[in-house]
Amino acid sequence: MPDKKVRIVPLGGLGEIGKNMMVFEYGDESMIVDTGIMFPENDMLGIDYIIPDFDYLRAKAHTVKGIIITHGHEDHTGAISHVMEAFDAPVYATSLTAGLLENKLQQAHMLDGIRLNTFEAGDELEIGPFRVETFHVCHSIPDGVGLGSPRPPD
Ligand SMILES: [Zn+2]
Repeated sequence: MPDKKVRIVPLGGLGEIGKNMMVFEYGDESMIVDTGIMFPENDMLGIDYIIPDFDYLRAKAHTVKGIIITHGHEDHTGAISHVMEAFDAPVYATSLTAGLLENKLQQAHMLDGIRLNTFEAGDELEIGPFRVETFHVCHSIPDGVGLGSPRPPD
């Protein structure tokens, strides 16, 4: 039995609306799911938006093997340019989500050099040690996916 453990580390989005970002780690490899922002409360004057605190991952940026974005809402995509400043890893998204990400990265003058890969719901992704099954979900923006672990071969 391998002595490595899977660690699932939420960096935002649990118990709050926004800042969705989660890290899956296995040994010295990891993948990020979503890079969202949170909109400020009425009393947060002068704040445009709030990004997740991903300092936890900065120290081990080399472990990040890929970034999956599940859908195009701001609370899942809005921090992409901040995250891509910190990590050099390919991004995976469905075509509508990828288009929205492209737009954000272009506005941040960061599109060159970003490896943006598109997939379709139902495709299986391999990111470092992770095999990820994607499936269509019904949501208020098209082309969203849920993620799961594919069934091991019989
Ligand atoms: Zn959403």
